[in-house]
Amino acid sequence: MKYPTALQTLMDKLAGLPSVGPKTAERYAFYLLKQTPEKLKSFAVAILELQDKITLCHECLSISESDPCLICADTSRRQDVLCVVENIQDLTAIEATKQYDGRYFILGGLINTINNIGPEDLNIDKLIKRIKTNGIKEIILALNFTLEGETTSLYLTKILKDHLKITRLAKGLPAGSDLKYADELTLGNALKYRNEIIK
Ligand SMILES: [Zn+2]
Repeated sequence: MKYPTALQTLMDKLAGLPSVGPKTAERYAFYLLKQTPEKLKSFAVAILELQDKITLCHECLSISESDPCLICADTSRRQDVLCVVENIQDLTAIEATKQYDGRYFILGGLINTINNIGPEDLNIDKLIKRIKTNGIKEIILALNFTLEGETTSLYLTKILKDHLKITRLAKGLPAGSDLKYADELTLGNALKYRNEIIK
């Protein structure tokens, strides 16, 4: 049997989400069908606002409600330290430690040779430009302790080492760790006791 078009369309859209197969999509769609019109409307508005209210901060390349974002616009934060993270989830994890008062830069990914993601796919040109124009004296490589994170840290160290101080998170986090799942205390300490990369 075929479902009414509106329901089938919703199922197809839901099935396109990560980790959602057709069966789960069907369950979600029937769940939504049972909700009140008000609840459905607020759900739809939340999705629409993703496009209307979220923009990109041109300084740190993070998604934000304003450009520049609140962190980049905050003049009380240090201007000369830049923490390089993979994505906004990692930025949020570091902010939650309350151990950092510098700026951020979102790399937008990690080098991954298996998936064919090379340095040219990351925001490295913009990072270099930011370092040159903003008088950055130290960058903190706050990347995952995974093969991809290590490869990316090595690459960035190689191209930036002659220009400024480069530090990386202390190895308090186990190998294979994803920063966004690290607890605040461990991550805060890894940041506090960061090591300078010997050139
Ligand atoms: Zn920003």
